[in-house]
Amino acid sequence: MADKPLAGRHALVTGGGRGIGAAIARQLLSLGADVTITGRDAGRLAGAVTTLSALGRVQAVSMDVSAAAAIEAGFAQAAGSFGPVAILVNNAGIAQAAPFARTDLAMWDDIMRTDLTGAFLCAKAAVPMMLAAGWGRVVNVASTAGLTGLAYCTAYCAAKHGLIGLTRALAKELATKPVTVNAVCPGYTETDIVETTLDNIVAKTGRTREDALADLVAPNPQKRLIQPAEVAEAVGWLCLPGSSAITGQSIAVAGGEIM
Ligand code: NDP
Repeated sequence: MADKPLAGRHALVTGGGRGIGAAIARQLLSLGADVTITGRDAGRLAGAVTTLSALGRVQAVSMDVSAAAAIEAGFAQAAGSFGPVAILVNNAGIAQAAPFARTDLAMWDDIMRTDLTGAFLCAKAAVPMMLAAGWGRVVNVASTAGLTGLAYCTAYCAAKHGLIGLTRALAKELATKPVTVNAVCPGYTETDIVETTLDNIVAKTGRTREDALADLVAPNPQKRLIQPAEVAEAVGWLCLPGSSAITGQSIAVAGGEIM
């Protein structure tokens, strides 16, 4: 079916209950995939399934990507009902900003475990299924913070740079197999993460929300926040059968912030 190029493929989107992940789930469903969304908040996941089920076959699996045992159990549950995972979108992530002097080991570990080790472990669970089935797509949701340094974001930048390193190395290792591995790198995107960032800037600096927002979008030549659906479009395109020559790439979805 030309309008459902991912029909029969099982896609698992971590952090698919809200924000960019929910938009990606929507996009993959519209391309015909069966979609598992995962996250920690079972109530939110259930709500998302109710909304998304109008578009296709979707299920929720509770899975904390910072816990290895939960990932193993989550993939087994997801594959048990929808079959082997053919598309993995490592989207779950947390962002915390702090000056380097106040970036302690707990914050560092928290961000690394969720944004980097979680993606590694999910890929460990999914890639063998892709190789066995003879087709697969891994898309990691990194950030422009994975391509350049941002002040007050050492842990987040290090985790996202690490995620891009993982993307490139795994893509090269799998290059002769029918499995591609890519990253998308959003600029500031209109989700809860940005809402929290704006709240923090206002609380810590006393500046207005409009000023804080203008600062956030300043590096984006389009002077605006990216929309989750725009990130999802790029992810959907990377998952298409015709995108098989694209691997190891880190594609900025950022209005020209990175060139
Ligand atoms: P949100 O805060 O809106 O959503 C984050 C998602 O990640 C939620 O679904 C959450 O689910 C999930 N999540 C967080 N921690 C865990 C965990 N330990 N285990 C499982 N799921 C978890 O963020 P966005 O949609 O904005 O972000 C999605 C991705 O995009 C992140 O990787 C982020 O770094 C990246 N990104 C975002 C940008 C932005 O400006 N918004 C810019 C660049 C990159 P739950 O709460 O149910 O666990």
